[in-house]
Amino acid sequence: MPQSIEQLKEAVRGEVIEPTHPSYDSARKVYNGMLDKRPGLIVRCVDVADVKAAIAFGVENGMLTAIRGGGHNGAGLGTCDDGLVIDLSRMKGIRVDPAEKTVRVEGGCVWGDVDHATHAFGLATPSGFISTTGVAGLTLGGGIGYLTRRYGLTIDNLRSVDMVLADGRFVTANAEENSDLFWAVRGGGGNFGVVTSFVFQLHPVDIVQFGPTFWDVSEAATVLRAYRDFIKTAPEHVSGFFAFLVIPPAPMFPEQLHMKNVCGIVWCCTGTAEEADKALKPMRTVGNPLLDHVGPAPFPAVQSLFDPLFVPGLQWYWRADNFTDLSDEAIARHVEHGSNIPTMLSTMHLYPVNGAAQRVGKNDTAYSFREALLAEVIVGVDPDPANAEKISSWCKNYWDALHPFSAGGAYVNFMMDEGQDRVKATYRDNYERLVEIKSKYDPANFFRVNQNIRPSEKGRAG
Ligand SMILES: Cc1cc2nc3c(=O)[nH]c(=O)nc-3n(C[C@H](O)[C@H](O)[C@H](O)COP(=O)(O)OP(=O)(O)OC[C@H]3O[C@@H](n4cnc5c(N)ncnc54)[C@H](O)[C@@H]3O)c2cc1C
Repeated sequence: MPQSIEQLKEAVRGEVIEPTHPSYDSARKVYNGMLDKRPGLIVRCVDVADVKAAIAFGVENGMLTAIRGGGHNGAGLGTCDDGLVIDLSRMKGIRVDPAEKTVRVEGGCVWGDVDHATHAFGLATPSGFISTTGVAGLTLGGGIGYLTRRYGLTIDNLRSVDMVLADGRFVTANAEENSDLFWAVRGGGGNFGVVTSFVFQLHPVDIVQFGPTFWDVSEAATVLRAYRDFIKTAPEHVSGFFAFLVIPPAPMFPEQLHMKNVCGIVWCCTGTAEEADKALKPMRTVGNPLLDHVGPAPFPAVQSLFDPLFVPGLQWYWRADNFTDLSDEAIARHVEHGSNIPTMLSTMHLYPVNGAAQRVGKNDTAYSFREALLAEVIVGVDPDPANAEKISSWCKNYWDALHPFSAGGAYVNFMMDEGQDRVKATYRDNYERLVEIKSKYDPANFFRVNQNIRPSEKGRAG
């Protein structure tokens, strides 16, 4: 077991980056520019052997240890101050099995890597709404995206994981092997070990019908009421998230709409153009759309459309909750806060999480909120650190206004570091089982830089 840094350097094929290393400042950066953490050591692993060596080093030296996949976590849970960062960003292997319609993905991939590989076969698996997010963190929290209504959450398409545990064991978890661990990693985050690879089910997704419908923000109450009713029963090939936003001055939008505060729905339909047209008709007759532009696009292009807008290094603060419905009073509060977006990149999204995602039982995976209709995320974003307070207080006030109408907890991947009560509210009656599994696989809570599930005292002693 490597105990000294010199032994660690000999043991790994990847890089061992200390604060004096020329790459240290770029290696320690994460997506959220609000975070400026200074780890004591970063190990950029290239294979499972490196991961094993890094974990052993962290355990031997009693180091606080973070796991970094894509580095996108809003709360910065892919890094830490002073401790060890096990960085998987160089583990980028992907193998598509077109006959089985599955893909094996190493733990350092981002979704753009996966979309690129699977699109060549006209296939995709449900992920998110942007291509730069890490596969690992997104999957282990649940995974909400354009394909959720049709094919479920990302975890509903997860078939197997390979992991290295805190005691150094390399294990596979799936429906047959270590099934308790497999249950836990489907929503329980990075609490149980380092996932070195994932196997996902793929589906025939190639060209989708994509684009926005925007309305003046003065029509928001009418649009939101119509959207709430529409999305409850819309065919599952239709997805579309509701947003309050400021239209950016980008050439793809008509100039007269630039910097206009609007509400809108960003559609993504996996049916044909005719099926999408027919299904979207009821929403297109609501109010007076300023822009309605849904057309064919390759799925990877859709996934990466927002990448140039949401670049790494921006100030980023968000708050979230799940909703089983939206009362007219809740809609009135949305209109009040959503009409006052503080900066051009700030936004509020309501993602539909019904359809296929609701057909999995709330105790079938660690992810609990299967009855939710909408996952809300209120996002304050701006390049200027001087606006950090402005965007975070807008978020908090907006969240406070809507929380009483929520189902009581949030999607774990849309949370900041909000304390144990919020973690428990996320998992509800799955929390106790998560504690049992955590106590079995990580009794000393070595993996604790995450939305932490604390092992029981008994587990810790054992
Ligand atoms: C711009 C942006 C867009 C987003 N869009 C979506 C979206 O559309 N849908 C959605 O569901 N979520 C979305 N998210 C949220 C995202 O899922 C979380 O931020 C997630 O934590 C990011 O994963 P990561 O691997 O990039 O993060 P990291 O910061 O690298 O890691 C986050 C957490 O995952 C754990 N972890 C990372 N890698 C591993 C591993 N290999 N093994 C074990 N644990 C690991 C870490 O312990 C850490 O707690 C978005 C986030 C951002 C910033």
